Amino acid sequence: MFNSLSEKLESAFKNLKGEARINDLNIANTVKDIRRALIDADVNFKIAKEFTDKVREKATGEKVINAISPGQLMVKIVQDELTELMGGSEAQFNVTGNPAIILIAGLQGSGKTTFTGKLANYLKTKKAKSVLLVAADVYRPAAIDQLTVLAGQVGVDVYSEPENKNPVEIAQNAIKEAKTRNKNVIIIDTAGRLAVDEVMMTEVANIKAAVNPAEILFVVDSMTGQDAVNTAKAFNDRLDFTGVVLTKLDGDTRGGAALSIKYTVNKPIKFVSSGEKMDTLDVFYPDRMAQRILGMGDITSLVEKAQAQYDEAEAKKLEKKIRKNQFDFQDFMDQLQQIKKMGNLKDLMGMIPGVGKAMKDIDIKDDAFKGIEAMISSMTPFERANPDSLTPSRKQRIARGSGKDIAEINAFMKQFEQMKQMMKMMNNMPMGRMPGLRR
Ligand code: GDP
Repeated sequence: MFNSLSEKLESAFKNLKGEARINDLNIANTVKDIRRALIDADVNFKIAKEFTDKVREKATGEKVINAISPGQLMVKIVQDELTELMGGSEAQFNVTGNPAIILIAGLQGSGKTTFTGKLANYLKTKKAKSVLLVAADVYRPAAIDQLTVLAGQVGVDVYSEPENKNPVEIAQNAIKEAKTRNKNVIIIDTAGRLAVDEVMMTEVANIKAAVNPAEILFVVDSMTGQDAVNTAKAFNDRLDFTGVVLTKLDGDTRGGAALSIKYTVNKPIKFVSSGEKMDTLDVFYPDRMAQRILGMGDITSLVEKAQAQYDEAEAKKLEKKIRKNQFDFQDFMDQLQQIKKMGNLKDLMGMIPGVGKAMKDIDIKDDAFKGIEAMISSMTPFERANPDSLTPSRKQRIARGSGKDIAEINAFMKQFEQMKQMMKMMNNMPMGRMPGLRR
């Protein structure tokens, strides 16, 4: 995500490398490069200029205190300004009402229906809401089917009236239905067009007037850059929406939409969607996004993802095993499965500060652990629980079973032993003394 922008910003900061202090000349050079980087990322010229003017103003006259270099100071200033540009702090999501009504609008193909399914999943699993999806696209019969499939995947109900061509009526009936079925949120997926279109706008505006939504979310494909910003403006002029959803952030987006939308329509980005799977939806945090753009990783999101998978009792059990040097192949396999549940491996590693950049050209496949899994799968339960039991003949059998050779099995055994020692050492160390680790 935003790789090219990250690289260009990094190269802008190189202007300050080795400089003892910040001065007008090195600020000017850095700022010029930052502006170029933003414009190349499809940020509108006016926004880029205003942004860099602010950065220059903040940097000028800043004293470089002992602990940080001019480069670090500049990174901090840019990080603060990027955060501000994308909305400052996290926006609230309103689910008040009985039922709370959420209206989804956007162009056809922007990812509206996919997002509707993801939002239902998010509200159901993270906010314990019972959700009813409403198919209010009366033009494409396939739209009802698509929504029904997604609803099936996330386990929520759909309301539709295939014969009714009046979306306002459908929305109103859905509200009644939600009340009888005790649903506390309804999400109305509306029809889109390929381009901004008066009839489409009027239709969504009529639904809005009839149902008084708690949230009107404008969904936009982040790959469309400046067009995304123009479309947002057209929709906002007409609908006065409450928030933006950026989709397809898993693609090769340059960043223009994420950086310019808030400035242009003065509405916050509330969610970002990055994939076709139903759990690839994230609340948008401007500060974390700024950190990611600057290649400093998004350690906070990583920690949250890990916490979502964290099982206190299991962790205690594991800790004890490690302490007693009883960590075995089965435990290792279980840990691998946990990591895999957290999501796409490359995305996860990209969140670790410094790792994202280093890895951008490396093709990390999600099956990176496949070889190890194959070896452990070829062991008997006894062997998995007793790493010391692997005699040469057992190794032969495991090698055959996993399609590896003996050297690979031995290499893995050695790595496993080293890892075990390392884990034991870390486990026995008081956390307070470990640099960088607190709890
Ligand atoms: P709609 O016409 O606005 O309802 O758009 P859809 O939800 O049908 O999405 C259009 C296409 O984009 C579909 O092929 C989706 O699978 C795909 N899509 C939607 N959101 C994402 C996303 O976040 N990432 C990726 N890679 N594809 C997406």
